[in-house]
Amino acid sequence: MLYVSTRGKTDLMSSAHAITRGLADDGGLFVPQRIPTMRPSDIKAMGKKPYTERAVDVLLQYLTDFSEEELRECVNAAYAKDKFGDNPVPLVQVNDNTAVLELWHGPTSAFKDMALQLLPHLLTRSMKKTGETNKVVILVATSGDTGKAALEGFADVEGTQIIVFYPSEGVSDIQKRQMITQMGKNVTVFGIEGNFDDAQRGVKEIFGNKVLSDELAKNGFTFSSANSINWGRLVPQIVYYFSAYVDAVCAGNIQFGDKVNFVVPTGNFGDILAGYYAKLMGLPVERLLCASNSNKVLTDFINSGTYDKRREFFKTISPSMDILVSSNLERLLYNVTDEDANLVAGYMKRLNTEGVYQIDNDILKRVQSEFFGAWVDELETKEAIGRIYGDYKYLMDTHTAVAWRALEKYRFLTSDETYSIVLSTASPYKFADSVLDALEDAQPAGADPFANLAELNKQTGVEIPPRMLALQELPVLHNEVIPSDKMELAVVKNLL
Ligand SMILES: *Cc1c(COP(=O)(O)O)cnc(C)c1O
Repeated sequence: MLYVSTRGKTDLMSSAHAITRGLADDGGLFVPQRIPTMRPSDIKAMGKKPYTERAVDVLLQYLTDFSEEELRECVNAAYAKDKFGDNPVPLVQVNDNTAVLELWHGPTSAFKDMALQLLPHLLTRSMKKTGETNKVVILVATSGDTGKAALEGFADVEGTQIIVFYPSEGVSDIQKRQMITQMGKNVTVFGIEGNFDDAQRGVKEIFGNKVLSDELAKNGFTFSSANSINWGRLVPQIVYYFSAYVDAVCAGNIQFGDKVNFVVPTGNFGDILAGYYAKLMGLPVERLLCASNSNKVLTDFINSGTYDKRREFFKTISPSMDILVSSNLERLLYNVTDEDANLVAGYMKRLNTEGVYQIDNDILKRVQSEFFGAWVDELETKEAIGRIYGDYKYLMDTHTAVAWRALEKYRFLTSDETYSIVLSTASPYKFADSVLDALEDAQPAGADPFANLAELNKQTGVEIPPRMLALQELPVLHNEVIPSDKMELAVVKNLL
């Protein structure tokens, strides 16, 4: 399996190259030359396997320059019991035709761990395969969860250095605390004055700066990315769609072959895109529901075919979805335009220069046949948390609640009662103050994030993730905040 750029201007590359580089030289994203398919019997057989072996089955289809044994070593290390517990991704049945896939049982309590615990293993092996001798510098722009998950994945990994930028006023207290206390001799964390899009733009500019990268290469450094633009971030996410499906079959909630909907709280479009690839690979999926908060640029795009980032940016209680430029949409566009790289490059250029682009009607029809977009405001999000806890004693975080409510809207509008799986992307404790605010008869305990953890535990009896509790005792190691136009300087100072 070889990889091409969505903008068509690079040579074919192995997966090891695609993972080491992160972003293609023409500014595009790496995509597999064709999407592999799996036989129904092979999918069915996954039901009897542990998560790690399900992962080997899927990864083998894409990372063909890795041996089965190598992949097994990578996934066994990534999803080890001391990091994820006995079942890395439990599927919890909440009512007759709805289940929640809990993707946050990893070290940082957000779904990013699913990919970022595996990526360092894939990357260090990829570097060996490609003969990379420079130190790989991972640059991360984060809306909160990626930063910590990447730090946790890469801390003290030989041959790598990691630098994280987060919007200093745009993440939750716990998220910030997780990042600024990160240990490891190869890690640096900066707050920036600006929002996530500013951070992402800054990182993209650094990647695109040829003079800088040449200078750093002379000093023994190569940039790569742990954002979901990196193929090594995306491919591990395909696995849990298969896993959820076969778990639903094994639990007797659906018959093998029945179609299901997946509902995905979406920001950068990485998670839901992995679901789309799973469908193309042969997983029986009816619709992919793309749930947004008030930053509803994707809902508008799916409904109208116009992607327009020229709009007000809202800071919401689901901050990991506060995004106006969803990078991975580029990969979807590549597929639905029948791999027309020139067309995709044109869209991206217009997005950059004018802030808006429009796709043709026939392409829009294809998008709409696979995806349904819905957005959910702050009040609805809180209402859903309180109501679902009241009705089913199931406690959701704010991102998951956006997805749950979007599913209700979809069912109301379409009368489609297909069995649906809601992807739960964070532990409710990661956003404890908002969750407390949403629960009937409960109140946030005040400004102290740890008081809120204790209060939510008192109200619900749900266990606090032990690593989150332990943050209280850790010293702050990174407290520098910089203007968003000084990111490049910060990187240079840090490395040279
Ligand atoms: C990153 C994140 C999302 C959005 O996922 P994308 O792959 O960026 O669409 C949703 N919820 C949480 C909690 C996240 O951390």
